[in-house]
Amino acid sequence: MASLLGNLFILAAPSGAGKSSLIKALMEKYASNSDNAMEVSVSHTTRKPRPGEVDGQHYHFVSREQFEALIEQGVFFEWAEVFGNYYGTSRVTIEQTLHRGIDVFLDIDWQGARQVQKLMPDTCGIFILPPSIEVLEQRLTNRGQDSDEVIAGRMKEAVAEMSHFSEFSHVIVNDDFATALNDLEAIVISQRLRTMKQQMRYQPLLDELLGSA
Ligand code: 5GP
Repeated sequence: MASLLGNLFILAAPSGAGKSSLIKALMEKYASNSDNAMEVSVSHTTRKPRPGEVDGQHYHFVSREQFEALIEQGVFFEWAEVFGNYYGTSRVTIEQTLHRGIDVFLDIDWQGARQVQKLMPDTCGIFILPPSIEVLEQRLTNRGQDSDEVIAGRMKEAVAEMSHFSEFSHVIVNDDFATALNDLEAIVISQRLRTMKQQMRYQPLLDELLGSA
């Protein structure tokens, strides 16, 4: 897949680091810009939908049996079991999108990130960290609804996820949201400006410039 025009990004973070808000803001900023198109890959999961989640939009919600059949069929680019549920990224969808020159964002965990980085070393891995353990705890608590025990469990999962930060080439600390968004955008732009990508994008220009002498 070395000659794909689009860039593949992985965004990983513990729950509560603000990853979803950052992705949403980035997509809103770029949605109307057809020259800089980007999409978030919609994963399959066996997790039950949360209130407000729409099938096909937030996730493709499937049963464990369906997911296991999809694994057998080789549908997934990567998949992992996260907190007792299966999650996976469809291979065809991301390949087709990248071929169209559209950047793809994978919102996946460290296990999936490892698989993707092995298959596509060209992938840009970004890890989002919260600014402090207190803020992380507060963000997990602010979601309401859950008991202290559930929150303590989430904190443990968050620390486990964060322990993999060094497997990613970029790290953003999400203290001030606008700054974190600027950081994310800077990474995206620098990925796009790499010579191998610019060469593909600007081949006619390069032919004209270099063939003119
Ligand atoms: P949630 O259930 O809160 O939406 O997601 C739980 C975790 O699963 C998050 O860390 C999220 O990034 C991860 N995740 C979501 N989709 C995928 C996927 O397709 N593959 C992998 N490996 N992880 C995923």
